Amino acid sequence: MKPLNADLHCHSTCSDGLLAPAEVVRRAAANGVELLALTDHDEISGLAEARVAAGECGLRFVDGVEISISWGDDQTVHIVGLGIDPADPVLVQGLAQVRSGRDARALRMAAELAKVGIHGAYEGALRHVSNPALVSRSHFARYIVEQGHARDMKEVFDYWLAKGKPGYVEHAWATLAEAVGWIVGAGGTAVIAHPARYRLTPAERRELFAAFRDLGGEGIEVLSGTQNAAEVREYAGIAREFGFLASRGSDFHGPGESWVDLGRLPDLPQDLTPVWTRLVS
Ligand code: AMP
Ligand code: MN
Ligand code: MN
Ligand code: MN
Repeated sequence: MKPLNADLHCHSTCSDGLLAPAEVVRRAAANGVELLALTDHDEISGLAEARVAAGECGLRFVDGVEISISWGDDQTVHIVGLGIDPADPVLVQGLAQVRSGRDARALRMAAELAKVGIHGAYEGALRHVSNPALVSRSHFARYIVEQGHARDMKEVFDYWLAKGKPGYVEHAWATLAEAVGWIVGAGGTAVIAHPARYRLTPAERRELFAAFRDLGGEGIEVLSGTQNAAEVREYAGIAREFGFLASRGSDFHGPGESWVDLGRLPDLPQDLTPVWTRLVS
């Protein structure tokens, strides 16, 4: 049987993507995606528009979100929620709480950047923002590239915005327990996003996976736009060992800005149970 072309991780202008929710859906459909989840950072306001567009394209759609959490010693980890009820009041309130810290964080980032000669970054980032509740490092990165301080997004993060760099500020996001609780409480399936991206030792990584599973987390992104073949093999092994459902998501943010376009990922290893067995009947 031909594997389903599922893409269960991407962004719109409701967070730090470059395309409106309906444009994301139309691009996914044009790329041959058969099952799509929109997973904006800490935000679900794009889901209604995306669902309508998906209906028009004949594309199956899953309501999603990507929640920022703080883990261990100021590590940020992302937890994707799939098949959530976007009207669930606890989820809605929880996400509003996570978003509420972003503006003050942005002001602190701008103050730090000003000290190293990058001025006007708050106002500059806001010019790239569509959803005022969701100013992110990506918006700062676009301003910094525009100002000529870096050539591309990767370089901005390497020089200015990654942990330990001048524009990075610590921030308290949700806890792992909160994020998994909100997702599961809203009828969804919690999935660890892009596990290869976290700067954790192998032992710390396993602690994260075990804590996640103990809290009711069920899935892991074996295939992510930012994971190479060796990492795919590693997280396929983790999925087998921890009994996780396997997810597949491009983490597409926009044309020209993402490693992988919507739906353009390899197939999952055949022995793994895809997370979408939970999402579609
Ligand atoms: P924030 O939620 O404000 O901390 O922003 C995080 C976002 O920045 C991620 O979701 C990515 O879209 C982007 N990002 C983080 N690291 C990198 C990187 N090295 N290269 C490009 N984009 C990145
Ligand atoms: Mn992002
Ligand atoms: Mn992420
Ligand atoms: Mn993402």
